[in-house]
Amino acid sequence: MTFRLLTATAVGLVMATGAFAQSTVGIAMPTQSSARWISDGESMVRLFEEAGYQTMLQYAEDDIPNQLAQVENMITSGVDVLVIAAIDGTTLSNALENAHFAGIQTIAYDRLIRDSEYVSYYATFDNFKVGVQQATSLVEGLQERFGDGPYNVELFGGSPDDNNAYFFYDGAMSVLQPLIDSGEIVIVSGQMGMDRVGTLRWDGSAAQARMDNLLSAHYTEAQVHGVLSPYDGLSIGILSSLRGVGYGSGDLPWPIVSGQDAEVQSVQSIIAGEQYSTIFKDTRELARVTVGMVDAILRGGEPEINDTETYDNGIKIVPSYLLEPVPVDASNWEEILVGSGYYTLDQLQ
Ligand code: BGC
Repeated sequence: MTFRLLTATAVGLVMATGAFAQSTVGIAMPTQSSARWISDGESMVRLFEEAGYQTMLQYAEDDIPNQLAQVENMITSGVDVLVIAAIDGTTLSNALENAHFAGIQTIAYDRLIRDSEYVSYYATFDNFKVGVQQATSLVEGLQERFGDGPYNVELFGGSPDDNNAYFFYDGAMSVLQPLIDSGEIVIVSGQMGMDRVGTLRWDGSAAQARMDNLLSAHYTEAQVHGVLSPYDGLSIGILSSLRGVGYGSGDLPWPIVSGQDAEVQSVQSIIAGEQYSTIFKDTRELARVTVGMVDAILRGGEPEINDTETYDNGIKIVPSYLLEPVPVDASNWEEILVGSGYYTLDQLQ
C-alpha cells in the first residue's frame, strides 16, 4: 500500500517537473465542418499530452465572435500559451494584445494572424507551393485528358479573410498566368483575381452556386476543361454543379478539378475518377512542429524556424516553420496516404 502510494507520488512529481507538465496550452481551431481541423486538434491534444501538457481545445464553427470569445476565455482562465488557427486573420489584434499583457505568447497555426505585433511564431505549410502544385496538377491533367489546348478553365479562390487564400492563388497563378497570356488556357468567364473568385469562409455551397452561374452564363455552347479549386470542400460543390449539367457522363468527360487537404470524401472521389487531385498536408507533422515551438517557448529557448522572410503580417515578419505539401492523385494516393499511415485502406474504399 505504502509502496503504491509512493509510486503514485513519484510519478506525479516526474510529470510535474518534466516538460512544464502543469502548463496549459489553449488551442483555438476554426471549425469542425472540415475533417482536417478535427485531425489537427486531435493530433495536437495527443502530442501535447504525451509531452506532459494540459490542453484546452475549442472550435468556433466559423463564427468570428465565437472564436474571439473562446480566445478571451482562454486568456482569463490562465493558459500559458495560445495556438490559434484564425477564422478571420485580421480580427484578433485586441485579443493578442490582451494575451501579451497577461504574459501569454501566441503561435499562429496554419493561418497567419495579421495586424498584430504579438504573434510570436507561425507554423504552417509552404502555402505558395500548395498553389503551384494545384496548378501544376491541373495543367498535367488537362494535357493528359484533353490533349493539346487551348483549354477552357475557371478559377476559384479561398476565403478572402484567410491570408493563405492569397498565397494559394498567387502560387497557382505563377503557373497559370503565362499559359493564359499565351492563349493556351482561356478563362471563359473572364473572372480573375481574388476579389472576383474568392469564396467567403471556404463555403462549398457558395462554390457550387458560383459554378452553377458560370455554367449557365458561359458554358451553354463551350465545354469547361478544368477548374482550379483551392480546397476539397469547394471541389465537392464544384463537382456537384458539373454533374448537374451532365459532366462525367455520356460524351462530357469530367473537367480536371484540383483540391487541397486530402479529405476522405475527396480521396474517394479521386479514386472514382471524379476529382483529379488534392494536396496532402500532414496535419500530424504540423502538430508536431507546433508542440516543439510551444515547448521551446515555455523553456525560454528558441523554436526551430526555417523561414524569416515570407510571412509579413502587416506589422512584422513572423518567424515561421514551413512544411512541405505533397500533391496526390489517382497514381499515388495509396502510397502517400495509406503508406504514411494517415488513413487506412478501409477508410478510403
Ligand atoms: C488551410 C487549408 C484549408 C482551408 C479551408 C486554409 O487556411 O490552409 O488547408 O483547406 O483553410 O479550411
